[in-house]
Amino acid sequence: MDPFDGSDPREALRRVSALLGCSLTSAEVAAHLDRQDKLRHLREQFLVPKIADLPPSDLSLVDGTRDCIYLVGNSLGLQPRMAKKYLEEELEKWAKTGVHGHTEGSRPWAWAENNIEELMANVVGAKAEEVALMNGLTVNLHLLMLSFYKPTAARHKILLEDKAFPSDHYAVESQIRLRGFDPEQSMLLVSPRSGEETLRTEDILEVIEKEGDSIAVVMFSGVQYYTGQLFNMAAITQAGQRKGCFVGFDCAHAAGNVELKLHDWGVDFACWCSYKYINSGAGGLAGAFIHDKHRDTIKPALLGWWGHDLNTRFQMSNVLELQPGVSGFRLSNQPILLVCPLQASLEVFNMTSMQALRRKSLLLTAYLESLIQHYYSEDPGQPLKPHVRIITPSDPQQRGCQLSLSFSVHIRKVFKELERRGVACDMREPSVLRVAPVPLYNSFSDVHSFVETLGSALRASSQ
Ligand SMILES: *Cc1c(COP(=O)(O)O)cnc(C)c1O
Repeated sequence: MDPFDGSDPREALRRVSALLGCSLTSAEVAAHLDRQDKLRHLREQFLVPKIADLPPSDLSLVDGTRDCIYLVGNSLGLQPRMAKKYLEEELEKWAKTGVHGHTEGSRPWAWAENNIEELMANVVGAKAEEVALMNGLTVNLHLLMLSFYKPTAARHKILLEDKAFPSDHYAVESQIRLRGFDPEQSMLLVSPRSGEETLRTEDILEVIEKEGDSIAVVMFSGVQYYTGQLFNMAAITQAGQRKGCFVGFDCAHAAGNVELKLHDWGVDFACWCSYKYINSGAGGLAGAFIHDKHRDTIKPALLGWWGHDLNTRFQMSNVLELQPGVSGFRLSNQPILLVCPLQASLEVFNMTSMQALRRKSLLLTAYLESLIQHYYSEDPGQPLKPHVRIITPSDPQQRGCQLSLSFSVHIRKVFKELERRGVACDMREPSVLRVAPVPLYNSFSDVHSFVETLGSALRASSQ
């Protein structure tokens, strides 16, 4: 049986260790899964930093010539191998042909982003004409809210998570003020039940059911950045729309991480950045989605020449021929230097499918979970021994690749010791490490090495 077939990942892991006749913790299991992994060649499409090049590493503890253990693709994805080549091509074209680059070459600057929108649409489950690549994530969230959030006295609320990413919280707050409403009254925040870390779908749906008549927009993340929880976007969309709300998602941590079906789920709007799981480099070109059911009804509040039909854009008639749907929301010409690395990454995504990546991801993250639980769960016999609690949902359908680990000890020292040993992950004080094995370029052996290194880091930090 193929452990990558997408069935229950814990069961698949049990089968593999039974087949090999060794414990799940044996490095043999990781090596076996890596050999079976039909996507393992995709790692070669990325540049993995060497340990010696990472500033905090300590070469007396670890071999600097090795690849680092990069588990922080949830924050900044690795550089696609082709990014540099594409950038050099455009720099070269600029040097040699100047302004002619707008219309010449394989990536004419005046419409280069249009050529990769289909590749992006495949990643988020949309039609190409439902996607625009432009601006940054928060800018796109604002542009979308300007058109979808039209509060009235009776329906003026925006429903979001209590612990939304700060930028989303501020964006929503300022949109409410912009419309002359009071965030105290109009921001409806949902929190986990007391003693729980993540939101229950039933609780989200219940708030929508109860308060829906006063909610203008439901705005959730697809995957929660801190806990790694994957929300049931289809159910939230359906519940919100049944109550007459628009439903939008910030897919910053979902795009390129989990399978999205923005079109099929009927999501009204969405936005995402491309530098996390989509590997476009810091500050990369962001995405925006508007469902095609709105193509002729939802109009941009702010206009620019890039929203004008490409065929007549450069006639400069000052009579706007607005493109339908999200394309009309474009304001400025897009930075070609950001298109290049994004194209390089999207081409790798399109060598496979989100479905195949997700199948690997389910197994990779379940493997990480099993090893963490095996070594570091709380031991009633040794309550003082440092232990780790996973705050990400244990249901694989309610998470992406990231696990958020909450430690019984202060995390700063553990994190430092991990860094000295060539591990790149993400720390949130006082006690959380976010660890994201990314199916595009991480291996089962990465996960195995991480868990072993975590043991040394915990020992070193408690000395
Ligand atoms: C990463 C992230 C952002 C960052 O916003 P930028 O505009 O790209 O700087 C915003 N919201 C969420 C949910 C994020 O995960």
